[in-house]
Amino acid sequence: MNYETIIGLEVHAELLTASKLWCGCSTAFGNEPNTQVCPICLGLPGTLPVLNEKAVEYAVKAGLALGCRIAEWSRFDRKQYFYPDLPKAYQISQYDLPLCREGRVVITVDGLSREVGILRVHLEEEAGKLVHSGESLHGSEYSLVDYNRGGIPLIEIVTAPDLRSPEEARIFLERLRTVLRYIGVSDCKMEEGSLRCDANVNLRIKDEEGEYRTPIVEIKNLNSFRAVERALTYEVRRQVDEFMEKGRPPAGTDLSRTKVTAGWNEALGRTYVQRQKELADDYRYFPDPDLPPVVLSSEQVEKWRAELPELPEEKESRFRREYGLPAYDAAVLTASRAVADLFEETARLTGDAKMVSNWVMGEVFRLLKGAGDDLEQALRHCSITPAALAELLLFVKNERINANSGKEVLEEMYRTGKAATQIIAEKGLEQISGRDQLAGLVAEVIAAHPGVVEDIKNGKKAAIGFLVGQVMKATKGKANPKLVNELITQSLS
Ligand code: ZN
Ligand code: MN
Repeated sequence: MNYETIIGLEVHAELLTASKLWCGCSTAFGNEPNTQVCPICLGLPGTLPVLNEKAVEYAVKAGLALGCRIAEWSRFDRKQYFYPDLPKAYQISQYDLPLCREGRVVITVDGLSREVGILRVHLEEEAGKLVHSGESLHGSEYSLVDYNRGGIPLIEIVTAPDLRSPEEARIFLERLRTVLRYIGVSDCKMEEGSLRCDANVNLRIKDEEGEYRTPIVEIKNLNSFRAVERALTYEVRRQVDEFMEKGRPPAGTDLSRTKVTAGWNEALGRTYVQRQKELADDYRYFPDPDLPPVVLSSEQVEKWRAELPELPEEKESRFRREYGLPAYDAAVLTASRAVADLFEETARLTGDAKMVSNWVMGEVFRLLKGAGDDLEQALRHCSITPAALAELLLFVKNERINANSGKEVLEEMYRTGKAATQIIAEKGLEQISGRDQLAGLVAEVIAAHPGVVEDIKNGKKAAIGFLVGQVMKATKGKANPKLVNELITQSLS
């Protein structure tokens, strides 16, 4: 069966403002329910929202970093729906006049660059959080609501249907997280819900009867990168199977306005239909009469553009140029700003970029991956700072400890937060690099193994390794192996 997968994403990211979008309540995560609320974010009658300027700045900066055009004039609309996570029974969002439009993100899939269109980035308010006694609101004995989250500023980012596989969708989402974190507008923690993703997917099937598109299925509330890829993989398979089994719908059936909403069950590894509708949802959007339009001068937008930090794409090409890193290394090291900063600052302190990139991509990543999939979060919460790492790597670079001891020390630094110098002293790991200290030992080993010496003299050069090993054993691995090798070769020639 010849088909193409068509995927578009709608991503919600909470903005890192200190206060909510329309009131002064705190946006802090994880406090007692309903302790960060006021009459405004509770939607009480008679209150008026006042726009948080920082949220506009962050939304515009996100739009700029995603290559969007910024609207000089935009406004807020009311999106009506009835669900107790919104006390007003409408969400203040943006409809036909969003803040940002027509952007693009470049992703790399299998070493090739692909461009993904961004249709829009708009600003809206977050809803409260419901906890049901059962599976969902319907059928639950009771549901609890926490409005601490209600009114936190969100950006909604809508992509064009440009993604061609579940893997591409995941890669795009990772790239989006990288960009939003670089510019510091969102922490994008999927596990805490500050980054969430809905995915639209259908198939363009081509066979002898011509082209056919399966109805679009929207999978809601995907809350991990793995879930995005798994849910889409499952749903593509399901649509293929359904087409193989049932074929096209009867002639005259119009599916163009049908939209299926599905959920994702992580435990069962399958999507399930939540509702199927003949018409798109009717949210009865209309301009919010309580809020004036957002008018931005081009001076203001250019000022925010100038404040953007170096973006991942620029940093990646600079790392290749400045440090001579291979393309792959530069891409990996710049995928997180915290990792890029660790690399660059440690390289400056040690003066050895190649060594630092090997250690960061090897040993440091291995330790961080033990703490979960989110390298940036793991790095922020551990004690491996550029100064601490540089201190260790200088011991290795100056051959005061060998590479294996270096790995051992790094692991201990990561586990205990102790400094390299202290660990090396406590464990007595410093290499024996004094020629005089080693010369006697080398002579002893040579004297003790006349047979091996004979072999070496008869041309079996590999046997030198055995003698080096004996010296290493005698020093409990602390001898400088390069020097030992040199001393043995010298005394046998
Ligand atoms: Zn409030
Ligand atoms: Mn939305």
